[in-house]
Amino acid sequence: MNAHLTNASSRSIIDTIVRDVADRNPGEPEFLQAVHEVLESIAPVLVERPDYVEAGIIERLVEPERQVIFRVPWTDDRNRVQVNRGFRVQFNSALGPYKGGLRFHSSVNLGIIKFLGFEQIFKNALTAQGIGGAKGGSDFDPHGRSDAEIMRFCQSFMDELYRHLGEHTDIPAGDIGVGAREIGYLFGRYRKITNRHESGMFTGKGVAWGGAEVRTEATGYGTIFFLEQMLARRGVALDGQTAVVSGSGNVALYAIEKLQQLGARPITASDSSGYIVDENGIDLELLKQVKEVERARVSAYVDRRPAARFVAGGSVWDVPARFAIPSATQNELDEAAARTLVRNGVVAVAEGANMPCTPEAIDVFSEAAVLFAPGKAANAGGVATSALEMSQNASRQRWSFSDSEDRLRAIMVAVHDQAYEASERYGSPGNYVVGANTASFVKVADAMLAQGVI
Ligand code: GLU
Repeated sequence: MNAHLTNASSRSIIDTIVRDVADRNPGEPEFLQAVHEVLESIAPVLVERPDYVEAGIIERLVEPERQVIFRVPWTDDRNRVQVNRGFRVQFNSALGPYKGGLRFHSSVNLGIIKFLGFEQIFKNALTAQGIGGAKGGSDFDPHGRSDAEIMRFCQSFMDELYRHLGEHTDIPAGDIGVGAREIGYLFGRYRKITNRHESGMFTGKGVAWGGAEVRTEATGYGTIFFLEQMLARRGVALDGQTAVVSGSGNVALYAIEKLQQLGARPITASDSSGYIVDENGIDLELLKQVKEVERARVSAYVDRRPAARFVAGGSVWDVPARFAIPSATQNELDEAAARTLVRNGVVAVAEGANMPCTPEAIDVFSEAAVLFAPGKAANAGGVATSALEMSQNASRQRWSFSDSEDRLRAIMVAVHDQAYEASERYGSPGNYVVGANTASFVKVADAMLAQGVI
């Protein structure tokens, strides 16, 4: 093995790779952003591990193992043929079968799926559940579509995707636009095509047909468990404090629920039309009714809750609170929003969504010594509970809600501790971005090294 690299040579290796990734992946800014963030963190690892450099680990890591792009034709309710584009990026399987959700949203393109798949590699490594990283989806927009249209779309999507899946190969789950309804249609079609009731090939299934308790709640709950750990280290209480939460999907709803259970007061939720502020604390039953049952906009909440207000457009980050939980989508919290939060006294930010804070926003938090939990650590509870679902499917067991929640909490404590310890080990104590990136990178890199040039 070569002698150790210097800091400068390790940085210059990384810079060259980042430039190369930019040249080879034009028009994919989110993917470059995700790659940049991880590679920026790992210079101190390379200083100690020139064998990673010699084995081309980083060059291999930034290139997906397989990328599938396919046509998804379907017929709408007016009998017109519609065509969408489907994606599955199987990014890395060194630690286990490909694992990661499907996103149905009009903004989906290859670069978005690659950023999500890349993040998923490291997030999944942090869970220590033996799962590789992948992501998929489509530019299909489920809004305003009937159940019958959603079903036909999901069936057509699976008509192509099924050949790439399997309980030991690639296991999808939900993400934005893919919830219980879509997973039901997708799983049903897979079962029909393959003639196998292969429970472990999809997670997020209905609890009555192979799904796991707490999977629905897991991403939101896990984010708050992570926040709790971060605060405990600094001796800051969660109880009695206000929180501003963005989004109103699965992550936001269950982050709100867990915040309330732990005695905090979440006061906002949002969607693409604007945000609601309820200073008395969000009425979660009402918000669930609006979003999950009626599938309506958040503004419908204030119609039944006169003390609350709806702000059309605008930024939810203008609302002062002690904690911020961005749980909507990528790059929803920029530098200006971060400055506003800091000015208003925020003490901790935990990312429920994937990459919701821009790099500039993260810099603002770090300069202001605000605790910051990156999504790949803070929101790992969702995919971790997917792995618990896979375990239950493989052993034909069913664990209770409280048993599953205890396991989730233990996993989040371990994710937190690993990230914290790695942040110390690599010279940035308390910097969870560095901690999460280095701890997970080392796990994936070691597995790749052991398995040869693949
Ligand atoms: N889409 C989720 C995530 O971003 C869950 C993935 C899964 O459960 O496979 O981690």
